[in-house]
Amino acid sequence: MAIERTLSIIKPDATNRNLTGKINAKFEDAGLRIVAQKRIKLSMEQAGKFYEVHAARPFYGELCEFMASAPVVVQVLEGEGAIAKNREVMGATNPKDAAAGTIRADFALSVGENSVHGSDAPDTAAQEIAYFFSGLELVG
Ligand code: ADP
Ligand code: MG
Repeated sequence: MAIERTLSIIKPDATNRNLTGKINAKFEDAGLRIVAQKRIKLSMEQAGKFYEVHAARPFYGELCEFMASAPVVVQVLEGEGAIAKNREVMGATNPKDAAAGTIRADFALSVGENSVHGSDAPDTAAQEIAYFFSGLELVG
């Protein structure tokens, strides 16, 4: 398996509850290296553009409002098969379906307020990393 990079976001429900450190510990314990990280507050427009792929889904407005409601921590995780590994550590979208010990099983409040985002494939990972980070911010 190749070394990959993936885009992760610690969402407002988690930053509001001071869970950044606990979530980062789960990434690091799984062998994912946090190679870039910043805490930012998204505008509605920035959240809307990030989640554009979901624009037709009924929860899109609610999702954008939630993502713009408080600071998020955007980060780049690196490691062997990082994209799939991160999805494993995150757990299923709906915390009711998430495996024990995953971030969403332990911390998510609901299917919408589910604590973390993670890219789902190499092409989306590359696009999403470039949305938040410049090459100069990725020092490895
Ligand atoms: P994932 O984040 O696991 O990749 P999706 O890409 O399907 O999941 O959805 C993006 C985000 O939209 C989810 O993480 C969640 O915050 C929100 N979402 C997904 N499904 C619903 C739903 N049925 N109701 C409300 N919000 C949802
Ligand atoms: Mg997704």
